[in-house]
Amino acid sequence: MKREMICICCPMGCRMTVEGEPGAYTVTGNTCPRGKAYAIAEMTAPERMVTSSVAVVGGNYKTVSVKTASPIPKGKIFEALRLLDGVVLTAPVKEGQTVVEDILGTGVAFVATREVSVAR
Ligand code: SF4
Repeated sequence: MKREMICICCPMGCRMTVEGEPGAYTVTGNTCPRGKAYAIAEMTAPERMVTSSVAVVGGNYKTVSVKTASPIPKGKIFEALRLLDGVVLTAPVKEGQTVVEDILGTGVAFVATREVSVAR
């Protein structure tokens, strides 16, 4: 098995080649160990950070951006986003505030990425 991929762990975007079988992958093209770890994770259990936004009432902004506190399995992204449907926060919102706990049993939460103050 051979697969080409681009590392998304930093802006350098190294082009990598992964060859081999589960448990015995060889990675080339990576500039640092993070690239190798990313490549092997992509071959075995790919994960992604997920970002979106939710509505806020009574705040100086009508919405607030949210993200997963850490990556979640790639296959759960769309189901995770559905958990945000209809979520409405009330200002004030703190940066890092939990918006949805334990997404689909992953132990990862959606958190607010910025503060929203009460509207004056
Ligand atoms: S392999 Fe290392 S240097 Fe290259 S993109 Fe990934 S993190 Fe950046």
